[in-house]
Amino acid sequence: MQEHNSKVALITGGSRGIGAAIVKQLSAQGAKVAFTYSKSKINAEKLVKEISDLGGHAIAIPADSVDVKNIILAVEQTVFLLGQLDILVNNAGLFATGKLHQLSMDDFDQTVSINIRAVFAASWQAARHLPDGGRIISIGSCLAPRAGRAGISLYSMSKSALVGLTKGLAHDLGPRRITVNLIQPGPTDTDMNPANSPKAVKTLQSLALPAYGRPEDIAAMVLHLAGPGGNNITGSVIDIDGGFNA
Ligand code: NDP
Repeated sequence: MQEHNSKVALITGGSRGIGAAIVKQLSAQGAKVAFTYSKSKINAEKLVKEISDLGGHAIAIPADSVDVKNIILAVEQTVFLLGQLDILVNNAGLFATGKLHQLSMDDFDQTVSINIRAVFAASWQAARHLPDGGRIISIGSCLAPRAGRAGISLYSMSKSALVGLTKGLAHDLGPRRITVNLIQPGPTDTDMNPANSPKAVKTLQSLALPAYGRPEDIAAMVLHLAGPGGNNITGSVIDIDGGFNA
């Protein structure tokens, strides 16, 4: 039996990487899936076709998370086009790096807009539609609890904010049995952090398990949290980081 039959999910940033893996796995389990993208229109269209060819149903919504209006509209479009919203996955993220003197206020604003404000906005708007027992799952980072090196402050700050947001929303939405959780991936092989880049060698030295994670590893946890196995999990911060924070 498909675990997510009759469910509708919205994933922000679903055109590539971890988001695309989440789209595919939720769809394979029977969910109707909407996902947003910003720049990768061709990838988004390919993914919609791939899912349709497999007998699933997905829609791609152009929505740059930097503008809060786009996020609100994406939630409304999902409900309008797919009829309901049961699962929100806040995945889109910006990895802006640089030491303090190299960062600009624009870097700060962009990072806060995409990595924090969009997550708040999507959760805020989705909460109007989620049924009792709905799910909000956000993607943080292993660099929230431990920056570990120079040049990570902005990103680390933004992903740390999701810890507080997740715990607070768990209490706000708990009376409706809506669960709210945060997954903190470690180095995961995507365009953002390719396993074959020269930097990867050093990254591997910081892991207990000496290998990059796969987007599917993160998607598998999303599926667990979104399904019946996640009924009593809320306000949790779950590391899937190969032991980066061990
Ligand atoms: P990728 O860069 O490979 O993919 C990012 C996805 O998010 C793309 O689909 C992209 O769409 C979308 N996206 C980016 N910016 C925006 C935006 N402004 N508006 C809408 N969509 C946007 O990243 P990953 O898959 O690696 O990362 C996914 C999440 O996981 C992020 O939150 C990231 O911070 C987090 N993470 C990743 C780690 C890793 O090692 N890969 C480690 C820890 C956390 P488009 O191309 O259309 O713009």
